[in-house]
Amino acid sequence: MRDLRALPKAHLHLHLTGSMRPDTLAEWAARDGLRLPEPLPPDRVHGWADFQGRYDLARAVIRSAGDVVRVVREAATADAADGAGWLELQVDPTSYAARLGSLEDVVAAVLAGAAEAPIPVGVVVAASWGATAEHAERLARLAAATPGVIGFGLSNDERLGRVGDFVAACRLAADAGLRIVPHAGFYEPAAHVRDCVELLGAHRVGHAVTAASCPETLGLLAGRQVAVELCPTSYPPLGVAWDLSALLDAGVPVALGTDDPLLFGVGLAGQYQIARDLGCDDATLARLARDSITHSAAPAEVRGGLLAGVDAWWAGAGPDE
Ligand SMILES: [Zn+2]
Repeated sequence: MRDLRALPKAHLHLHLTGSMRPDTLAEWAARDGLRLPEPLPPDRVHGWADFQGRYDLARAVIRSAGDVVRVVREAATADAADGAGWLELQVDPTSYAARLGSLEDVVAAVLAGAAEAPIPVGVVVAASWGATAEHAERLARLAAATPGVIGFGLSNDERLGRVGDFVAACRLAADAGLRIVPHAGFYEPAAHVRDCVELLGAHRVGHAVTAASCPETLGLLAGRQVAVELCPTSYPPLGVAWDLSALLDAGVPVALGTDDPLLFGVGLAGQYQIARDLGCDDATLARLARDSITHSAAPAEVRGGLLAGVDAWWAGAGPDE
C-alpha cells in the first residue's frame, strides 16, 4: 500500500488559529493564565456556537507577532511532514488586529511566518461572512496591495451574511489577480454555492457539501472547474452531511483540507486516509492530490514539481502490490 504521507499534495484550506499545535496552545495558555478550550465531546452533534466559542478561546492565546510567526512555521512544518509542498493559510486579520496593532500588522506577521516555513506558503486574507461590505472591501484592498497574499476568502458562519454584499470586495480582489475562495454551502443550500460562483466569481469554494445532492450545482462546478475544498473531519462534529463520491463522480475537482486540525484533531495525511477508508483507491487519491495542486495558487514551477511527484508516487508500487 502506498504511503499517503509520501503523496505530494497542496493544502488549500487551513485557518491560522485552527492550525495551532495543541502543545503550543497549552504552553501559551499557561504562560498567560488563560483558559484552554475543552475538546468537542464526540458523543453528540454541535452547533456552530460550540465550535466558534472554542475557536475564540484558542485565538485568545495568540498575543504577538512572534506568536503568529511560530504558529505559521509550526503549521507548515506539520503539513510538510504530511506531504504538502504548498500551503495556503487563511486569516481574517480583524480579530487579531487589536493585539498586534493593525490589520496590516497581522498580515505582515503571517507573511513573516510564511518566510520561515519549510515549504512555500501563500496567504489568503479572509473577511467574515458577518462583516459589513465596507470592512470586506477594506480587507480586499489590503489583500490586493500585499505581496505574498494570493487569495481573498469569506469565512465564519455563512448564514451571517448575504452573497450580494460581497460582490464589490471580491471584484476588487479578483482584479488584483487574487483567487476568490469563499466558504459556501456548509449550512446554506446549494444555491448559495452557485451564487458564490456566479456572483462572486469563486475560483474555489470551501466545503460546498450541500452541492453534492444538487445536479445543477455539481454541473456548474464541474463545467467551470471550480474546486471544492473538502475537509472530512469538519462535518461529523457539526452534524453536516457530506459526500465525496458525488463530487468526484460529477467531475468536480476536490482538494482535501484540514480546516482546523487543532479542534478536529486530524492532519492533512489523515484526511487522505479517511478518503482511503471510504473506498478511494490509489488512483483516486492521486487524483485528489493532483486536484489540490492544479487548483492552488502555487507558482508554475512548484505545481510542476509536485505533479511530477504525484506521478512518481503512482508509478511506485507499494510493498504489498
Ligand atoms: Zn474553513
